Amino acid sequence: MTVRVRIAPSPTGNLHIGTARTAVFNWLFARHHGGIFILRIEDTDLERSRPEYTENILDGLRWLGLNWDEGPFFQSQRLDLYKQAVQKLLDQGLAYRCYTTSEELEALREAQKAKGEAPRYDNRHRNLTPEQEAEFQAQGRSFVIRFKIDDHREIVWNDLVRGKMSWRGSDLGGDMVIARASEEGIGQPLYNFVVVVDDIDMQISHVIRGEDHIANTAKQILLYEALGAKIPEFAHSPLILNMEGRKLSKRDGVTSISDFKQMGFTAEGLVNYMTLLGWSPPDSTQEIFTLDVAAKEFSFERVNKAGAKFDWAKLDWLNSQYIHNMPIDKLTDLIIPYWEAAGYKFDSGRDRAWLEKLVTLMSASLTRLTNAVDMSKMFFGETVEFSAEGSQQLQQTGSSEVLQGIVTALDTQPQLTEASAQDIIKQVVKAQNVKKGLVMRSLRAALTGDVHGPDLIQSWLLLNQIGLDKPRLNQAMVSKGE
Ligand code: GLU
Repeated sequence: MTVRVRIAPSPTGNLHIGTARTAVFNWLFARHHGGIFILRIEDTDLERSRPEYTENILDGLRWLGLNWDEGPFFQSQRLDLYKQAVQKLLDQGLAYRCYTTSEELEALREAQKAKGEAPRYDNRHRNLTPEQEAEFQAQGRSFVIRFKIDDHREIVWNDLVRGKMSWRGSDLGGDMVIARASEEGIGQPLYNFVVVVDDIDMQISHVIRGEDHIANTAKQILLYEALGAKIPEFAHSPLILNMEGRKLSKRDGVTSISDFKQMGFTAEGLVNYMTLLGWSPPDSTQEIFTLDVAAKEFSFERVNKAGAKFDWAKLDWLNSQYIHNMPIDKLTDLIIPYWEAAGYKFDSGRDRAWLEKLVTLMSASLTRLTNAVDMSKMFFGETVEFSAEGSQQLQQTGSSEVLQGIVTALDTQPQLTEASAQDIIKQVVKAQNVKKGLVMRSLRAALTGDVHGPDLIQSWLLLNQIGLDKPRLNQAMVSKGE
């Protein structure tokens, strides 16, 4: 059997972390079995679906490296197929037109509530005579199409994550609506129905999706049977929870993949983290791996039933590992858009070598790509902002003289190098008979505005290359950091 799986996002919002994680599991499973991963856009909700969300979803999947083999297919372009399938069920007497009005349904719900019963449709139009139908039509009533659900059925499947699952037909709310109201013909077919028609048509072998779809699975199994199709395997992956154990939501900061990208996570770090959200490799000490490596090991036996807690610290750690081990040219490429977004001015072609040196200087201190924006601020632009400690340092006795000494020595240097920079510092220490610490701290405060930061000599060399070191030293002597 060829494994064929799909991710079926609805374009009613940006690519959600939960959907993306479901995509990861589908992708891993497909690749593990040399199967096919299909992308299907479920855009039947015409009011809420938007093309920009579809774009966001496609971009997000591509960015994460979750390449698909077939699609994207759009449900909105497949309406005929669904209507034919509805017609087939009508012809076989497995579905029927239901003319119950919304007022009648409301009255039914009220009556059930009064008796303490769960709301359900009472199948009242299941066996209408042609005369009764004609009468309702004459009244101008619209109708929905309902699929007959046998209350006495027990629906059982062996879930690849959760084991044996069973549902009673009587818990499915009565005969289910499969197509929306219409006055003639078949109205817009609904979610649970079109998913099944598509999964049959696309020969999906394994339906892998979030556990919030479990109740749908019970209904869908009945639809597979009615349509005479083979029932696929099902795997319901655990939900993603916040640290308090509740479903991860917008309130937890971010929910979409594009948000994570904007926050400075790398695609590799994020996708690695998502792989671990509910799955663990056979060697559970192994935490850093590519999708391809995870695909070799992936199986549903190692997917947890319990919800997966979203741990920001772990994600940050993984992300930092990817950043620290990334070749500098690639890291520079990734950081440039964040600098551009922050409005920093540079010529990414001409200044490339300098930018790469800057990235080399910061790389080991980065957790997220966005950290590079703050950390490198002092390398862009004419003026420095002084921290309290930075200005205090510049007001220390001897600080101005030290800076003056450095400026004078710099004037005699045709080109500053690591060795000559060290020399200048030594000279000033000796000539002014001061501690080296005073020279280093004052130099740092003048150049960067602060007393902490990346390697001082390297920072100085970089500023020297773009001619910013002397103006800053001069400015610091005058302003003393105020
Ligand atoms: N469109 C559904 C969703 O976004 C997916 C349905 C499915 O995977 O069967 O939740």
